Amino acid sequence: MKLVFASHNAHKVAEIKAMMPAHIELLSLTDLGYHEEIPETAATIEGNAILKATFLRDELNCAVFADDTGLIVPALNGEPGVFSARYAGPQKDANDNMDLLLEKLTDKTDRSAYFQTVIALWINGEMHQFEGRVNGEIIQEKRGVDGFGYDPIFIPENKGRTFAEMNAQEKNALSHRGRALEKMLTFLNQ
Ligand code: IMP
Repeated sequence: MKLVFASHNAHKVAEIKAMMPAHIELLSLTDLGYHEEIPETAATIEGNAILKATFLRDELNCAVFADDTGLIVPALNGEPGVFSARYAGPQKDANDNMDLLLEKLTDKTDRSAYFQTVIALWINGEMHQFEGRVNGEIIQEKRGVDGFGYDPIFIPENKGRTFAEMNAQEKNALSHRGRALEKMLTFLNQ
């Protein structure tokens, strides 16, 4: 079975390819030679996942899924949330985003946070959604070099290490995206 993953993010494609069972051939947009920008203009994480998956389904006319993720910090009223990629500006720079978040949290005692992923899957003319979440906290300074985005400042609950200090397998086993993907794979296996 062929499944297209609607993302240009090489880190995410690698994470998701590592989780795919042998009977699913995962094709990234790079594999397809598709380089167009995909719209991400919805007001919610769920809305963006649906927007991206539907846009690609209309373009490619095949089974396709998209994910959208946000980092939610309750002490900052849910920021960066749906703006996680461009929190510090349109340059979408991970270090700038982390620096801004650390600065905004300087005087906060509650440093709890969670990642939320929504996957939208179009298959056989129907759309299905899957959600994954991981609770944790934002630490004071960056640690680790693996992963991407906010990984160096996020420690998942009951773990002593940031996502950026874990290899892909460890991160996938407990991450927001890993959990949403597990639900999608269970559905596809039915
Ligand atoms: P996207 O919707 O999956 O593209 O994610 C939006 C933004 O959230 C990304 O640009 C990253 O800044 C952040 N993000 C998404 N997934 C992760 C992750 O697994 N670790 C750290 N940051 C992430």
